[in-house]
Amino acid sequence: MKLTFSTFDLKLKYTFTISRSSRDVSPIVLVEVEHDGITGLGEASPTRRYGETIETVTAFLRSLDLSRYDSPFDLEAIMTDVDAKAPGNTSAKAGIDIALHDWIGKKLNIPLYRYWGLDRSKTPFTSLTIGIDQPEVIEQKVREAEEYPVLKVKLGGSNDEEIMKTIRHVTKKTLRVDANEGWKTKEIALEKIKWLEQEGVEFVEQPLPARDLAGTAWLRERVNLPLVADESSLRLDDVPGLRGVFDGINIKLMKCAGLREGMRMVAAARACGLKIMAGCMIESSVAISAAAQLSPLIDWADLDGAVLTTNDPFDGVTIAQGRLLLPERPGIGVQKRR
Ligand SMILES: [Mg+2]
Repeated sequence: MKLTFSTFDLKLKYTFTISRSSRDVSPIVLVEVEHDGITGLGEASPTRRYGETIETVTAFLRSLDLSRYDSPFDLEAIMTDVDAKAPGNTSAKAGIDIALHDWIGKKLNIPLYRYWGLDRSKTPFTSLTIGIDQPEVIEQKVREAEEYPVLKVKLGGSNDEEIMKTIRHVTKKTLRVDANEGWKTKEIALEKIKWLEQEGVEFVEQPLPARDLAGTAWLRERVNLPLVADESSLRLDDVPGLRGVFDGINIKLMKCAGLREGMRMVAAARACGLKIMAGCMIESSVAISAAAQLSPLIDWADLDGAVLTTNDPFDGVTIAQGRLLLPERPGIGVQKRR
């Protein structure tokens, strides 16, 4: 089994600003696992919030030796070892995990959703994310997002009211709000959510800093909108502790080290009575299509990462009138764009 990787700069259509950061280019690492004449494709999209950069991803991948395993069918053993190699590095681990899954699907000549016994007609609608921006740019983005029935709005900065007012000036559609830990105290978050309850909002993602579970539980008793964990919900072992604190979790392959653990988080969340969203970082169609393969199992999708870019090198899952359409191609279902 041969592991290779290369870096690629995804260019963003608009400067992407959330409560803690802003950027125009988002570098990724494309991962390939080759065995038996078949190449599985994966992707790592590192996030500084979780201590990763292109340099940490490539260093981690360089430290691995996959030659001692028989084939990607040894996925469980391989990923157990890869995960134990070092803490963190979850996007690098996800890159390997996705490539192994893609290889297995290609070898069996079936898409992963079929491998897992899922119904491709059950994929959810995906929201499109509107990052923090100047009012005229937000208006433009909202108009361009016409085909999406649901928008996700990034708040948590100093101009939340202005952003909501701008969006509500253009559209009445359902909004999901992501504060990205931006409201620093539970009292501020309470005031914001009480206001958002009147604004046609479906749920609020990560209102408070990730570690403030006590504050979030306090908040949840006082608001009428569901609260969804993102930065508080990284991996499988976070899930049980979120019961009674949040109403749902946002699963991202880049946080949870890939599809193997993502599937386990789906099961754990269901057992804890939590709703499930599948989200993403800024990613190409490789990682987005991988996450979309398990989307028939979830309640809400926010898999717009590739749509926010202008130079996605791959074709994969497509979006029609806001709904995720899984391709019939094997594995994660992507091919290089011609
Ligand atoms: Mg989020």
